[in-house]
Amino acid sequence: MTELSEVVQSLKAERSHPLCAYIYDLGHLKRHASRCIETLPATCRLFYAVKANSEEPILRALAPIVHGFEVASLGEVEKVRSVAPDAPILFGGPGKTDAEIEGALQHRVSLLHVESAHELRRVDYLAGRAGRVADILLRVNLRGPLPSATLYMAGKPTQFGIDEEDIPAVIGLAKRCQHVRLRGFHFHSISNDLDATGHAHLVAHYLRLTRTWAARFSLDIAYVNAGGGLGVNYRQLDKQFDWEAFTTELNQLLPDECPPGATILFECGRYMTAACGAYAVEVLDIKRNHGKDYVIVRGGTHHFRLPSSWQHSHPFTLVPLEGWTAPIERPELRDGTITVVGQLCTPKDVLAYDVAVERVRVGDVILFQYAGAYGWSISHHDFLSHPHPEQIFLEGGAC
Ligand SMILES: *Cc1c(COP(=O)(O)O)cnc(C)c1O
Repeated sequence: MTELSEVVQSLKAERSHPLCAYIYDLGHLKRHASRCIETLPATCRLFYAVKANSEEPILRALAPIVHGFEVASLGEVEKVRSVAPDAPILFGGPGKTDAEIEGALQHRVSLLHVESAHELRRVDYLAGRAGRVADILLRVNLRGPLPSATLYMAGKPTQFGIDEEDIPAVIGLAKRCQHVRLRGFHFHSISNDLDATGHAHLVAHYLRLTRTWAARFSLDIAYVNAGGGLGVNYRQLDKQFDWEAFTTELNQLLPDECPPGATILFECGRYMTAACGAYAVEVLDIKRNHGKDYVIVRGGTHHFRLPSSWQHSHPFTLVPLEGWTAPIERPELRDGTITVVGQLCTPKDVLAYDVAVERVRVGDVILFQYAGAYGWSISHHDFLSHPHPEQIFLEGGAC
């Protein structure tokens, strides 16, 4: 982090306007991804879920490392293909259009994740029309209960997947389709799970269900996609998802639980890219209203919607910057408790709240950590028409 604050100082020195930038450390990203791949159990493959951050340098950095990419639109397929013409791609998501299914087949997507019986019939029809056989996984919406996490895609009513109760009927339908080949099942049930051992047990639950269906319907299972959902702890930065515990537990479970000959797929977004990115914003003003201290920064939730989406106070560090040259007093707050807000005209534009700081001054820079996943990519960039943040990709190894 010291090195990143040096980066901020040199960026600031080169600019006359207030700093507002996403800063990504590609060296950190590549090291993190490589470590994950190297320590993955032999029967597992790790894909990157593109929606977490689809900036080209991120995809380019990951392409030689990960086993492939998971996408949820034709736009994402095209982004992947522009940097990795031959990488394996998994295509999922509800409400695929004809153009998306046809485009996926043209772009040689490895597996289509089918989300409903109607979608299965459409994939069969469109693959037949293209003279193809599509390899598919059926996406399962489990009955639950599921372990605790921040978001739930299954285990309760949602728009995702096929109700576990309906899976037998849809397997029957898939078997009657001539232009699809059922290769296994897809389970992406929760997001931001921080319990590594619990997550491994959830994977084991997926594998047991798959074996039950495989036996009952004489299926040859090539893949079980266990989804993403490995968490990032935004509240306690020193208590991150324990990858080592996760892989150790998997190594113990897999020999008994994995269907013979099957490969287990993971498609992680947040866990891959959150840590490599920071959102750096300069303090524009400091003021007190109704007894509370507000720090207003150049930027806001239109660039970084995650804290407002999840209603959390996002972790940050402060980079003190010297060289104040304005011919007026520099506002400063000492030993205060601050709420950090952006430039938007809505009280919801809050990035962090009730954080104790020793000193903050106008012209200092606030660095929001773990901003590399679901940061810029999920934000409503043009609300209020402020300039966009710079996107800075460091090749070397700051952080
Ligand atoms: C978003 C998504 C992922 C990635 O989820 P993370 O929580 O970021 O790991 C994986 N699979 C599917 C189907 C998704 O929709």
